[in-house]
Amino acid sequence: MQPIQGLHHITAVAGDPQRNVDFYHHILGQRLIKTTVNFDDPGTYHLYYGDEIGTPGTALTFFPWLHMRRGRLGSGETGAMAYTITPDSIGFWRDHLKRQGIAVEEIQRFSAPALIFADPDGMQLELIPEEAPAEIRFWQDGPIPEQHALRGFHGVTLWLNEIEPTAQLLQKQFGYRLANQQENRFRFQADSQAIGMTIDLLHKPGLPRGDFGSGSIHHIAFRTQDDPEQLAYWQSLLLAGMHVTPVQDRQYFHSIYFREPGGVLFEIATDGPGFLIDETVETMGSALRLPPWHESRRAEIESILPPIERKPVVKAEPSYA
Ligand code: ZN
Repeated sequence: MQPIQGLHHITAVAGDPQRNVDFYHHILGQRLIKTTVNFDDPGTYHLYYGDEIGTPGTALTFFPWLHMRRGRLGSGETGAMAYTITPDSIGFWRDHLKRQGIAVEEIQRFSAPALIFADPDGMQLELIPEEAPAEIRFWQDGPIPEQHALRGFHGVTLWLNEIEPTAQLLQKQFGYRLANQQENRFRFQADSQAIGMTIDLLHKPGLPRGDFGSGSIHHIAFRTQDDPEQLAYWQSLLLAGMHVTPVQDRQYFHSIYFREPGGVLFEIATDGPGFLIDETVETMGSALRLPPWHESRRAEIESILPPIERKPVVKAEPSYA
């Protein structure tokens, strides 16, 4: 069983689906690669964003509920997610976000700059420069010039009352090691060139649990290459005392879920079959896709879902003063 190969996808809750598309697809340049429904609640969208083809480690997904009330962060939650950018893209992103009316803060973390801002539902996003980011599949028709495109996930920050049990899990089950520490932030990484290899644990003793709502990150999914490796993880997590679900067929990948000791919902997802099983690269995301077991209810489902307007992409200026 090889160590975990970074993050596979991150799933969050949004309010208005149109506002969600406008922000991620049009402003951040994360292509809407799959428009489908929540398989457990097919009257709700499940929107997937990523690089051009949704490479594992770039896929951010949302369940948008129009009238969902705003969440409030607490312990046992993913408090922020970060994308990687190249070091010479900091200025571009600071200016691009400001021009879109988005408040952006520049901070120093582990002696390097980072940009922090929030999405329209209040979900905390970070852009973190890396000298040699992993390869992604650039979306040529997107709004962001190639040199400044987001390079997939950098990682996530988990807010925890106690970090030791989660740290043990990351080290003993997933192959991560403690790479750095600054105040109450403990950075775990694995030795891999995969995308999304960083998990920061933020120690927040005594912080109550949050209120789940729009802007809350529902779960984070780690990557495994295939079904046999997923089964090996399933067995070793059971032996470690985790309550792991049976394998769920998510159409584009196979998933198991468990709550890690700090309370955050973790998933382990397979790389395959992937997002190209029911669409071509050119058409990805453009039409509503349903799994075979919901196809007979298509007319009913389409009548419930709010329409999403697909606006033309406006190219961001390649360089700002
Ligand atoms: Zn998931």
